[in-house]
Amino acid sequence: TTFTNPPLDNHLISNIELARYAIPTPVQKYSIPIVGAGRDLMACAQTGSGKTGGFLFPVLSELFLKGPLPVADDPHAGYRGRKAHPTVLILAPTRELVSQIFEEAKKFAYRSWVRPAVVYGGADIGAQLRQIDRGCDLLVATPGRLVDLIERARISLANIQYLVLDEADRMLDMGFEPQIRRIVEKEDMTSVQDRVTLMFSATFPRDIQYLARDFLKDYIFLSV
Ligand code: AMP
Repeated sequence: TTFTNPPLDNHLISNIELARYAIPTPVQKYSIPIVGAGRDLMACAQTGSGKTGGFLFPVLSELFLKGPLPVADDPHAGYRGRKAHPTVLILAPTRELVSQIFEEAKKFAYRSWVRPAVVYGGADIGAQLRQIDRGCDLLVATPGRLVDLIERARISLANIQYLVLDEADRMLDMGFEPQIRRIVEKEDMTSVQDRVTLMFSATFPRDIQYLARDFLKDYIFLSV
């Protein structure tokens, strides 16, 4: 198995080569064709398994192949009326994890139209708002801070094509379930039928099964 089989977008492959990744890890090998086929995914994978690539690679590949939404043709692509309209939303539990995902997203979105942004609690919101203003096609966020930005009407979820919940079990352990539900069940969020939803978790207890039932459709279960 290589990054060309299953196939990924050529520009993404060149960015993966720049990162010197030679072969996909198991979670990447299986997630790429599943997400490429437009299926929802519930993946049980540990930190260190390459799970970040497991969602970033197929999502970025599909975005590169499809190109920006028509709205993104204007100079304020993904950003209208002081409100960002990201295409991808990735939720993760901690500042460290969202920062790590953001760094990977920048690496693999290099020289593409996709502009990653990151927001997390416990830091100055003004700087994060200015970053969002510079462009936000792929947003990596902790749930509490994202609820805050939604309440300030600075983020619209109406263009979300890919929703990723990373370390879902840890987010529930940290008490984020109400915030996660407020985000995913928000009225302007793309419906489960019209988006691809990916959930990653180290464990699959009952509360995670309920989240999968509520947020995913006809999903494929992957355990690596
Ligand atoms: P993650 O489980 O996503 O936190 O990834 C764990 C580590 O493996 C990170 O340092 C990644 O940069 C690295 N990594 C992920 N995928 C690959 C790959 N296909 N080849 C080599 N290193 C990788």
